[in-house]
Amino acid sequence: MIVVMQNGASEAQIQSVIDRMVRMNFTVHRSTGVMHTVLGGIGPEDDIDPVDFEVLEGVKEAHRIASAYKLASRPFRPGGTVVQIGNVQIGGPNVVAMAGPCSVESEEQINLSAELVAGAGAKVIRGGAFKPRSSPYSFQGLGEKGLQLLRQAADRHGLLAISEVMDQTQIPLLAEYADILQVGARNMQNFNLLKELAKLRKPVLLKRGIAATVEELLLSAEYILSGGNYDVILCERGIRTFETSTRNTMDISAIPVTKKLSHLPIIADPSHGTGRRDHVLPMARAAVAAGADGLLVEVHHDPDRALSDGAQSLRPEQFSELMQQLRIIATAVGRTV
Ligand code: PEP
Ligand code: MN
Repeated sequence: MIVVMQNGASEAQIQSVIDRMVRMNFTVHRSTGVMHTVLGGIGPEDDIDPVDFEVLEGVKEAHRIASAYKLASRPFRPGGTVVQIGNVQIGGPNVVAMAGPCSVESEEQINLSAELVAGAGAKVIRGGAFKPRSSPYSFQGLGEKGLQLLRQAADRHGLLAISEVMDQTQIPLLAEYADILQVGARNMQNFNLLKELAKLRKPVLLKRGIAATVEELLLSAEYILSGGNYDVILCERGIRTFETSTRNTMDISAIPVTKKLSHLPIIADPSHGTGRRDHVLPMARAAVAAGADGLLVEVHHDPDRALSDGAQSLRPEQFSELMQQLRIIATAVGRTV
C-alpha cells in the first residue's frame, strides 16, 4: 500500500498515519520527497480498502501497488532515488563513470588504473578482489590484499571504490574497504546474501542475472530495500540469448523499462554486455542515450596481459575517447558527465 501525504502535511499527521498502518499490521517504509512524504506499507493490502487511508488527516491519496515488488516500484519515490556517496550522486543529473580493471592484480596495475580513469573523468574505480570465475583454474583474485590496494589507489586519486562481494561472509571485509558493494550477475538471486546486504548502510550495486527478467531484478532489489537499505543501484550487464556473436546480449531496452517501473538508478556495463572492447564504445553511447545513470567499464593499462577479461577491457586511450564522446551524448539528453 502506498499512502501519499499532502504537500505540507504535519509530522503529527504523518505519524498518526504510520501508527494506523502499524496497527493494521503493515511494516512502514517512509520516503521523504521534495513535495510529498510517501509511506510504503508492506502488509495485508489485499484486505484493506485504500479509502480507509484516504480519509485520514493530511493524506493526499492511497493505492495498492499492483507489482510484486513494492519499495522498488516507481510510486514509492516518484521523483527517483539519488544515491549520494561523498560528493558523488548516482541517479542525479550527472552520468557517473565507474571504471578500472576487471581484477585488482598488483599495486602498480591498480595505481596506474586509478590515475588514468581519474584523469579521464571517472568518479569511481572498479576492481574485483574476489572473482566469480567460470573455471576454478582461472585467477580467483587477490582477496583482502586486493581490497587494500584498491582502497589505497582510490584514495590517492580522489576516487570512490567499488568491488564485488561474493557471499555474506565477505560483507564486513568489503564494507571496510569499498564505498559500493557489487553483487555480481551470478549472485543476483543469492537471497541470503541480499538479506545480509539489506542490514548494511552502504550502497549496493545489483547486477542483472544472465537469465533474469527485469521483474526478477527488481524483486532482488526489493530484498535489500525491505531490510532498510535504500541505496541500491541497478546494473544492466547483458543477458544470455541465442546470439553468439557477443558474450552476452546487452539489453538496452531494460534501461527505459526499469526507469518506468522503478525509482532506482540504473547503470550499464557494456564490457560484460558485449565481451569485446571494440563494441564497448557504441554500447556505452547507446546506454547513456537511453537514460543510464552511469557506466561500469573495464579498463586496463595493458589488456593483453590482463589476468581476467582482457578482451573486453578498454585501452587507456579508448577510455579517454569514451569519456569525451559521453560528454556529447549526455548533453544531448539533458545530462552532464
Ligand atoms: C565483473 O564486474 O567483473 C563481473 C564479474 O561482472 P558480472 O557479475 O556482471 O559477470
Ligand atoms: Mn570482468
